Amino acid sequence: MIDKQRMSEYVMDLIRIDSLSYKEKEVGLKLRKDMEELGGECFFDDAGKIVKGNIGNLLVKISGNKKDARPILLSAHMDTVVPGEGIKPQIEDGIIKSDGTTILGSDDKSGLAIITEVVRTIKEKNIQYGDIEIAFTICEEVGLLGARHIDISNFKSKYGIVFDSGSPTGFSASIITKCPSAEKLEFKVHGLEAHAGVCPERGMNAIKIASEAIANMKLGRIDAETTANIGIIEGGFAINIVPNFVHIKGEARSHSEDKLRAQIEHMRKCFHDAVSRYEITLEGKTYIATVEETIERSYDKMNISNESKVVKLINQAANNLGLSINTLASGGGCDANYFNKKGVECVNLGTGMKEIHTVNEYLVLEEFYQAADILLETIKLNAILDLSLH
Ligand SMILES: [Zn+2]
Repeated sequence: MIDKQRMSEYVMDLIRIDSLSYKEKEVGLKLRKDMEELGGECFFDDAGKIVKGNIGNLLVKISGNKKDARPILLSAHMDTVVPGEGIKPQIEDGIIKSDGTTILGSDDKSGLAIITEVVRTIKEKNIQYGDIEIAFTICEEVGLLGARHIDISNFKSKYGIVFDSGSPTGFSASIITKCPSAEKLEFKVHGLEAHAGVCPERGMNAIKIASEAIANMKLGRIDAETTANIGIIEGGFAINIVPNFVHIKGEARSHSEDKLRAQIEHMRKCFHDAVSRYEITLEGKTYIATVEETIERSYDKMNISNESKVVKLINQAANNLGLSINTLASGGGCDANYFNKKGVECVNLGTGMKEIHTVNEYLVLEEFYQAADILLETIKLNAILDLSLH
């Protein structure tokens, strides 16, 4: 029932509009224009001002023609990662890919296009539907900032779907119902500066101290539910100076709060143990190495039951189409983490995007269309009041 040709052309149009995080204005204005033409009531919220981007989240309300049906929230993010400027999408053998010099940006232009095409279809085909509330968010890729700052009280939906993952159906993918909690960690290790050739014994090498801490640290996959990473290390001024400072940034994630706490304590302990081994006395004065730390919650985990309304609704919709859907846990966070935290039960449905955040990213058209079919069927089902789901 959806118009595949129109949908693939539309996603290519969106992909051609640059929209790095904090710079989503142009794509936001296009979506607003298109949504207004479809009868949507649109406005940009204040999230852009809060995060210092060039536009806020685009919030859209489409009034349903079946007034007693429950409202549903649909969401996808407008921003993309780098290298993501001047993208030249091309269709080949059932996929869309870039020219190999940039990402494709199907993460998450595919989600934007699925939602837009389904709204077009329900308007054209006179389908019965309840109110549809749409959040096209900013700055997902830099810490879910748009979803973090969205004022959800603009919406009435109690459940919804974020379109921002791999495959809508099939063995390895489907709807993500569980995402971990994540913490950002920063450590600043202070040593003591000295001339590396003349008097290295008067220094304490901050790079060496930090290296000892990191070498003793459990990183990577900690267990089935927990991961940790040191991703950035910066420090030093010159090869002939014993460095007095190094700055380290990393993260830890877990589906279990206890395991997350334990991993963070372990990472902190590695730094504290390392600095505690360094102390020197010069002209009667004692210097010790120190570490400053900042630990900040990135987002809280989400964990939606397979018995929840939204999971049952999507499952039923997929079954009606002869498809089957699995629920699964992801190691990544998404905007749905924040929507859940704000009281809207949201899962993350796949769009067909593959190898995201690389120049090899591609979109599988068949899966992309399938996600739209599932959404269309979900909206139809959602309008049927006597469904046992309500
Ligand atoms: Zn994404």
